[in-house]
Amino acid sequence: MKKNIRTLNIEQMQTFLKELGEPAFRAKQVHEWLWYKGVSEFSSMRNLPKSLLEKLDESYHIPKTKIYTEQVSTDGTIKLGFELDDKNKVEGVIIPSMGRYTACISSQVGCSLDCTFCATGFLKRERNLTAGEIFDQVNLINAITMERFNQKLDNIVFMGMGEPMLNYANVIESIKIMTDMKGLGFSGRRITVSTSGISKMIVKLADEELGCRLALSLHEANNEARSRIMPINDSNPLESLAESLTYWYNTTKSRPTLEYTVIEDVNDQSSNSDDLIRFAKQFPCKINLIEYNPIIQADFKPTEGDNLEAFAKKIEEAGLIVNIRRSRGKDIDAACGQLINNN
Ligand code: SAH
Ligand code: SF4
Repeated sequence: MKKNIRTLNIEQMQTFLKELGEPAFRAKQVHEWLWYKGVSEFSSMRNLPKSLLEKLDESYHIPKTKIYTEQVSTDGTIKLGFELDDKNKVEGVIIPSMGRYTACISSQVGCSLDCTFCATGFLKRERNLTAGEIFDQVNLINAITMERFNQKLDNIVFMGMGEPMLNYANVIESIKIMTDMKGLGFSGRRITVSTSGISKMIVKLADEELGCRLALSLHEANNEARSRIMPINDSNPLESLAESLTYWYNTTKSRPTLEYTVIEDVNDQSSNSDDLIRFAKQFPCKINLIEYNPIIQADFKPTEGDNLEAFAKKIEEAGLIVNIRRSRGKDIDAACGQLINNN
């Protein structure tokens, strides 16, 4: 049984190569191919001697993340099904908008949290993705935008399947790889981590100095009501979230985004906007109102048209920054909360 080469860190790689009589700099070269260029075959490591590649191939394999399915929406959104080395599956989405390309990527197979409005929440959490698997999604998506649109990927959002803060170490590691100048050299400002709100981890992420952005999936700004649709609120109530978002802003000087999916008769009443305004005024932030995407597992309806506009207007008039985010890729179940590996 060949071992997964990505489980070796650079020091372990050095030791292994030393045993093979290779100079120390080879470890760095192998590491760069694996982590910054995302090759899936030893034979693609062009600057290494063939004899070494053969020896590597005898003991190790490179785990492969493959695209096994693709769907294109009428609005240009592309949904990709990724098959991981152990045959588990996750999904990613490419969202084109005004000449820019955003990759929405997954951090876990399934999700352990049970937000009542999200299709992924109805799946079992099978396992965390490795940093390599998170990076593979970005690398594969970047290859697609380069090939089809002759353009590099512009933004990365952790808004696919799973809760990134519950796979913290691997998510951080993957961001370090994405931002490394030896690889894709992504600016941290173009990477957004979206979380259902795990206060302690928000503080930890602020201290990492990665330069990335943060989005909190808020959806309700009253504890009792939020706990009803997001059980994670029981252990991470609004007071603790406000505290960690204040810390986030003070530390990073970047405004967190509050994501608020507007659901008819659930969180679109005037008491809800009052709560939202009160919550958002505690620290500098931006508010994104997201069109709710109906899912078969739940009986919710989106707030539409004038009602949605009126909800937004009231927040704006309270002096807050607010945007309405139209849903993308709905016809192929590629929109927020619709990712369930159904193909
Ligand atoms: N687990 C993380 C990231 C993945 S969810 C989180 O919860 O933030 C990505 C975004 O989609 C979140 O803001 C989530 O609240 C939102 N979402 C989930 N289901 C949705 C639905 N049916 N319609 C619209 N947005 C949804
Ligand atoms: Fe998990 Fe996020 Fe969906 Fe909640 S909204 S179930 S945290 S993926």
